[in-house]
Amino acid sequence: MRDQEQIRCCACARLLFCAEPDALSGILTIKCPRCRAMNILRPRALSPERDQRPQVKGPGQ
Ligand SMILES: [Zn+2]
Repeated sequence: MRDQEQIRCCACARLLFCAEPDALSGILTIKCPRCRAMNILRPRALSPERDQRPQVKGPGQ
């Protein structure tokens, strides 16, 4: 059994899931259930980066 990386939220460090270092074959986007930050994971870069796109907000924002 291979070691797995613990993938944590980029914003609040909540554990999101575990994966082997080469488990991803494409970009994975996961929304943190606690703080709702969008975490973007790229293959072989198992430290999520935060989605920097502007969040769509309601009128007046
Ligand atoms: Zn979070």
